[in-house]
Amino acid sequence: SEKQLRQAQKMEAVGRLAGGLAHDFNNLLTVIMGHAQVLLNDMTTEHPFRNKIEEMQKAGDRAATLIRQLLTFSRKQPSTPKVLSVNPLITNFETMMRRLIGEDLELTLALAPQDLRISADPAQIEQVLMNLVVNARDAMPKGGRLRIETSQVELTRTPMYHAQLPALGTFVKLSVSDTGVGMLPDTLTHIFEPFFTTKEEGKGTGLGLSTVFGIVTQSGGGLDVTSLIGQGSRFDVYFPAVRSHPDPTAPDQAPRSSNRG
Ligand code: ADP
Repeated sequence: SEKQLRQAQKMEAVGRLAGGLAHDFNNLLTVIMGHAQVLLNDMTTEHPFRNKIEEMQKAGDRAATLIRQLLTFSRKQPSTPKVLSVNPLITNFETMMRRLIGEDLELTLALAPQDLRISADPAQIEQVLMNLVVNARDAMPKGGRLRIETSQVELTRTPMYHAQLPALGTFVKLSVSDTGVGMLPDTLTHIFEPFFTTKEEGKGTGLGLSTVFGIVTQSGGGLDVTSLIGQGSRFDVYFPAVRSHPDPTAPDQAPRSSNRG
């Protein structure tokens, strides 16, 4: 639709601008962080300025994370898709996710027993996971439960958020849900817009979910989001499934865009 086209154009322009800036910024940040490290190395462990420099490093790390997000967002996502299994990707990412969410949150993985295969760039799927997990964490400042679930589903209706209508059929569903603050309906209508954020200054870029949207729709998928204020949110991400074991005796199915060949 026209609205989606405008959104896409906006994202591209913003992306190009942000990409250039982020790159220069990153070089400057490397210089700052490098010198901070040199200073630290020269200081005794009891030096009174030590923790000041460590604070600088922490802020620098935050800045580096934001820049990485900007760069991922701006890169026209030259993805190198390959057939990959979603469950092991999540399991391998578990340590990283636990570190991200800290100790106060409960993390549950509920992975489907089957081998769920999709055609995607593994780095991009990790990016999707990371952005959703960080948002879930930020939604639960007072603790709560984060659940990651996978399953195979037959979609009979189009997911709420999509680029082109994904062909219906077999999808791999990846759900990230939290018991956090939830979203107002008015917030929900904006969450996929670049730079939309409700987080306090310096905490969010507003690029997490627009990046997720870009990656998911580029691979022919879509998303559903449900959220209730005070109860939590749930992001259901759908990727077209790649059949694991072609069954020659199965009745012929209509060819689907990304599933064969
Ligand atoms: P950022 O995280 O930098 O704010 P995002 O695009 O990832 O940018 O998210 C946009 C906004 O969507 C957030 O600022 C927040 O208001 C809302 N949001 C996203 N995920 C959640 C969630 N799990 N719970 C509550 N609000 C969320």
